[in-house]
Amino acid sequence: MKRADPPSPESLQLVLYPHPALKKTAKPVERFDDWLRTVVERMKDLMVEHKGVGLAGPQVGLSLRLFVASPEGKREEAVAYINPVLSDEHGSEEGEEGCLSLPDIRVKVERFQAVRVEAMDVTGQAFVVDAEDFPARVIQHENDHLDGILLLDRMSPMAKLANRKKIKELEERSQKPEARSQK
Ligand code: ZN
Repeated sequence: MKRADPPSPESLQLVLYPHPALKKTAKPVERFDDWLRTVVERMKDLMVEHKGVGLAGPQVGLSLRLFVASPEGKREEAVAYINPVLSDEHGSEEGEEGCLSLPDIRVKVERFQAVRVEAMDVTGQAFVVDAEDFPARVIQHENDHLDGILLLDRMSPMAKLANRKKIKELEERSQKPEARSQK
């Protein structure tokens, strides 16, 4: 059986809800090679291009446990978290969140105020970060993507109702064959 070639990093694009990759549980990264390094660079580009503060593998159609994050939205400060594991969660804080895969939707979400994240860098070197407040929120949001969890799953029924038009538009847009934006 022939193994499918991984997609070229340059071809990666942001995928929107309800793309199936966003609902899958992502698999651990096993190879810390040039492909991975180029993918991470591409993800940082896409994050900044779309004015995000974080971007996870499933959001570019890759079902792999990795994300990039920069709470200030700056490329030079973006950190890649590969095979992250969260622990020592404590406190709770409500804050507003958006998601690049759910354009124009902003909702209040309750998150832990602080988390520890153990992860690997692109070379496979382990590191630990203790994050608080907004950086901790970004990490929890991106880590959710690796388990197929979206903001929609974290929304209150009220927020879902308030955003139902935008959610429906995204669902309908995905059903049109090759709906190219004309912008
Ligand atoms: Zn997101």
